[in-house]
Amino acid sequence: MGKPTIALKKLDWIVTEDLDRRVLKGCSLYIEDGIITEISSGSIPEADYTLDGAWKAAIPGLVNLHTHAAMTLLRGYADDMPLEEWLEKRIWPAERRLTADLCYLGALLACMEMARNGTTCFLDMYYYPEETVKAALKIGLRVVAAVGIIDTFNPEERRPDFKLKIFSRRSAERFIDYVKGLGDSRVKAALGPHAPYTCSDDTLLWVKEKSEKGGLISHIHLAETRREQSRFEKMYGRREIEYLDAIGFLTGRVVAAHCVWLSPREINILASRNVKVAHCPISNLKLAVGGVAPITDMIGLNMTVGLGTDGAASNNSLDIFEAMKTVALLHKWYRWDPTVLPAWKVLDMATVEGYKALGIDKAGYIGVGAYADIAIIDLKRPGLQPIHGATGLVSNIVYACRGSDVHSTVVDGEPIVWDRRIVKVDEDEIYGRLVKVPDIFREA
Ligand SMILES: [Zn+2]
Repeated sequence: MGKPTIALKKLDWIVTEDLDRRVLKGCSLYIEDGIITEISSGSIPEADYTLDGAWKAAIPGLVNLHTHAAMTLLRGYADDMPLEEWLEKRIWPAERRLTADLCYLGALLACMEMARNGTTCFLDMYYYPEETVKAALKIGLRVVAAVGIIDTFNPEERRPDFKLKIFSRRSAERFIDYVKGLGDSRVKAALGPHAPYTCSDDTLLWVKEKSEKGGLISHIHLAETRREQSRFEKMYGRREIEYLDAIGFLTGRVVAAHCVWLSPREINILASRNVKVAHCPISNLKLAVGGVAPITDMIGLNMTVGLGTDGAASNNSLDIFEAMKTVALLHKWYRWDPTVLPAWKVLDMATVEGYKALGIDKAGYIGVGAYADIAIIDLKRPGLQPIHGATGLVSNIVYACRGSDVHSTVVDGEPIVWDRRIVKVDEDEIYGRLVKVPDIFREA
């Protein structure tokens, strides 16, 4: 069965995010075999799916550059706690009860939420990554799934010469083979060493070698809290990024989540190694990591910085529209300067920069030949009117739009949300299965 054809007719607006950042009025899009084949101000052919573009804006689909999809199961499970205590006392014990089936259910819920919010692609790191991949494909999302790798849950126990647990190595290799076997262009395997304080040098260097040989992204948490940085520095005499650079771990294939507590020297190291950053403003605020990630400095050095939600246990939603508004407000407040991170730059972070970080060059913009990863926003909403030209539209998208304003979402030329309905699964059946989840984690 081939992919359907889709005609998005006479859209009020198309925010292309192409190199010229063009915004088109009254144009139509034609999609065939997963690719945008025509952008026209005239008529376009008939298609399997047709959408009347009146009162609608098409934007490139949003990228969630850091999440743990299955953690939707722990949404609202443990809130209002410091990160270390939250992880060690609540999250890690609860995670010991996870099974493959549960991870699949949690990831399904996450994918439903993200698809409805106009997210078309996400970078995930978690246990049972096969289940995340299955859930993403079931809903129809594009996914880069990192197999989570941890040597020790106790940072005091970490030793640079820890040998990677054979289980981790085998399971990582099995997962990479599994993704290869799928042969689905929407799925990429990645490696997910959890953090420098939970993985040994041996593991980190094994990951680096594997990622270089296989052309795989390596996704890691870095410098999330001040306590983490100072604890690491005390133990190893170097800050995290300096340490990782000294052992040769940092390359252009690394996508680092958080990067909050960095010295100017560390920012320069990340820039010189072409490391990509997944900024998670809402998770950082909620866990009160104490600082603000210096992403305006990173952007000043031409680094690629995208937006992530982090898991639903620390956000608690998976809505990149919310992340866009938050990131703009946070950095204006932090810098005492309302001109930093203008709306258009924020939209870039959520779209084209996110795809770039994942090495997916043919998406993140709307143009002929691009992958058809598109979010369609309903503009007949009180919070989105009036529209003061193209700049006003982009302002509305960043500052006023919510995930629930998304009308339809297309991924790889497939409608996965169409007129506000998830296309490929029965949502009620999934809601029914979620009712039993709280019992499983009670008193974990
Ligand atoms: Zn995370």
